[in-house]
Amino acid sequence: MQHTQYRFSAKTVDIYFDAEFSYAEKLVDKEKIIVITDENVASLHADKFPGYKKIVLKPGEEYKQQVTVDDIIKQLIELRADRQSFILGVGGGVVTDIAGYAASVYMRGIKFGFVPTSILAMVDAAIGGKNGVDVGIYKNLVGVTRHPEFLIYDYSFLQTLPAEEWINGFAEIVKHACIKDAAMFGLLENNSLEDFKQSKEKISELVKRNVDIKLGVVAQDEFETGDRKLLNFGHTLGHAIENIYKLPHGSAISIGMVAAGSISEEVNNFPSDEKKKIVDLLKKYQLPVELVFDKEKVWEVLMMDKKRSGDTMNFILLDKIGDGIVKPISLDTLKELFNRVL
Ligand code: ADP
Ligand code: ZN
Repeated sequence: MQHTQYRFSAKTVDIYFDAEFSYAEKLVDKEKIIVITDENVASLHADKFPGYKKIVLKPGEEYKQQVTVDDIIKQLIELRADRQSFILGVGGGVVTDIAGYAASVYMRGIKFGFVPTSILAMVDAAIGGKNGVDVGIYKNLVGVTRHPEFLIYDYSFLQTLPAEEWINGFAEIVKHACIKDAAMFGLLENNSLEDFKQSKEKISELVKRNVDIKLGVVAQDEFETGDRKLLNFGHTLGHAIENIYKLPHGSAISIGMVAAGSISEEVNNFPSDEKKKIVDLLKKYQLPVELVFDKEKVWEVLMMDKKRSGDTMNFILLDKIGDGIVKPISLDTLKELFNRVL
């Protein structure tokens, strides 16, 4: 096991890599733990949490809504949860997002920790402190920023992760490579999804590297005034199409990254051979790179994006692979690009 700490203004987060789920009992009194998970993880890994108090959610992004939080709160009351109770979110990004949010509002906030079980949650969703829910089709419109006490990385969960969820998670890994790590981009080019699936060492190294990239960015810009915005690469168009077309998050941001690459070519002199490399890498990891969509409908949703301020949108572009930048683009320019380039 490898223990690392990340310091944020409000708290220090402990991360236990290459650990086992049961390590949670060393960190918190088991009696105080309430596991929040979903039906898939609960049934496939029932042996990992025997005798725990449990709240089991229906799986899927469509349940990442306020009503689910209300239901969790009712169950917390039934379980007589108090301010000493500890919520342990065990699952993919949907579970950790909801669990962190419910823990942050129940009794004005109780402590929580995460055991991310999907690649996406391990490298992205469970880290960084953002927790919340969607409102209808608007992604992550409501929520809080609050860090967990700890994260436990137990790779044995990945044995049951469905193939499409591996693919999904790699979209965020490609994102990190594009904005911050050209060497990792090369590593991804020289390996395949199968290589990472088959080697515990390879996936563990890759996950750690991605946690480092994300938490490095977050720690340096906690309040998202600068560099942290880079993590939204591919997510502006991605979020807009995700819920309209019920796409997996990874597919949506893959298409979004290609779009951001095209816009980078137009307004930032991003070389077209580099854009092609991104398209090729996404295809190699079995991610979609294009979608025919209803421009008017998507534009409407885009206007609700949290990165819009007044009549400009902070768009994440690339200078080159490994170097993302934030550029305000006027809505007029964006609309023209949107209609002509995408
Ligand atoms: P995310 O893609 O953000 O991680 P979810 O929490 O919705 O979002 O997880 C994606 C899907 O993968 C869900 O259906 C969830 O139940 C399932 N899942 C997560 N972790 C595992 C796992 N270790 N084994 C099997 N299924 C898993
Ligand atoms: Zn994402």
